[in-house]
Amino acid sequence: MPKQISAIRGMNDYYGESSATLDYIVVTAKAVLKQYGYQSISLPIVEKTELFARTIGEITDIVEKEMYTFIDRSGDSLTLRPEGTAGCVRAVIQNGLIHNQQQKLYYTGSMFRYERPQRGRYRQFQQFGVEVFGIATADIDAELIFLTARLWDNLGLDNLQLQINSLGSERTRQKYQVKLVNYLTNVKDQLDEDSKRRLETNPLRILDTKNPDLKEIVAQAPKLIDYLDQDCKEHFELLKGYLDDAGIKYVVNPNLVRGLDYYNKTVFEWVTTELGAQGTVCAGGRYDSLVEQIGGKHVPASGFAMGLERIMALIMDKDILDTEVQSDIFMVLVGDSALRLGMAMIESLRDENKNLKIIMNCGGGSFKSQFKKADKSGATIALILAEDEVNNRTIAIKYLRIKKDQETIAWSELNAKVANIFN
Ligand code: ATP
Ligand code: MG
Repeated sequence: MPKQISAIRGMNDYYGESSATLDYIVVTAKAVLKQYGYQSISLPIVEKTELFARTIGEITDIVEKEMYTFIDRSGDSLTLRPEGTAGCVRAVIQNGLIHNQQQKLYYTGSMFRYERPQRGRYRQFQQFGVEVFGIATADIDAELIFLTARLWDNLGLDNLQLQINSLGSERTRQKYQVKLVNYLTNVKDQLDEDSKRRLETNPLRILDTKNPDLKEIVAQAPKLIDYLDQDCKEHFELLKGYLDDAGIKYVVNPNLVRGLDYYNKTVFEWVTTELGAQGTVCAGGRYDSLVEQIGGKHVPASGFAMGLERIMALIMDKDILDTEVQSDIFMVLVGDSALRLGMAMIESLRDENKNLKIIMNCGGGSFKSQFKKADKSGATIALILAEDEVNNRTIAIKYLRIKKDQETIAWSELNAKVANIFN
């Protein structure tokens, strides 16, 4: 026998409960985004490598060691997208979508990063992303947070903590970086290899270290937030005010920096303590210079991305979703003429009842085996069509849940009867 082929490490198949949960998250998220007037955008999974190198930053984990990069048949360097923002920014510039207009967009799909697979961290993972273009003010940062808060509520998730911070302007960061490097150089012998290297290349990222041994050093470091200029300070104060007014609780985490280089002013994360080290389920912030960085005019922007696997894990741990197969009607069809007639009947039932889940028995079988399937489907009623019913122009209804009894009605009564049962 040929050897079986398995999936690539860190790339998952979703089926049954996990797949249903993923659907549930995406459907719920899309509904929230539509409620806020956002529009969907659908983007390529592969982009030119240069796009990511230029936007995410050359000296970030993603670009240094996590990208799936390959040369295609015409010799171009391409990369499987590690995140959605860069492609979205490329698309809105290329298609003229941000020329003198605002855009509020959302998308969902797979991202790829060559990371060490563990719970909540995979090599192919799904994100739901939201990006807003053309709005410089803190009101939109607040709206992005409002809608995520509403999403947790709609999904049935509590216990998520909102952390916010301000990264200020590029000038703020330059000023601050000098202080930070000073401080870190003094404690250099206590840093790990990674941080020592970052001290030379990208010192801010040291604040984002996942090494618990560096916790104390990071906690004692000078705080970027103390170096904000007036404009950034006001922006941050406004945001906090909007959140207070809306009753949304948050903590200011002065060490919150993001894993990508392009953020300024507002950054935020929603975190949980229930998933171990992979606690961030949603992360985002403002990126006012990114559009310009890849060749557009200056257009302010703000956005976030949620990691759907992490949200999925929370929902499955809490048993929030009932993913047992639940149908409304199961159609039992015994005999050839019943099958042919039943097929037409079931289609017209579906025409009339768009919200009912109606399952047809396929593949034949005895009464007994078909009823077994009907029971397993969780249906409220079984509709039964066999030779007798066909001859008498009737259909039998068996109540599977409530009364457990059976009655026979004329074909002409079927629609009214179904309406009666399910309303
Ligand atoms: P982390 O610090 O956990 O590595 P990140 O800063 O690299 O996250 P972002 O690039 O901001 O993550 O991506 C947004 C969200 O996507 C994260 O908050 C997380 O929920 C999810 N995410 C990121 N990388 C992965 C991954 N490898 N597997 C699953 N989910 C991920
Ligand atoms: Mg990461």
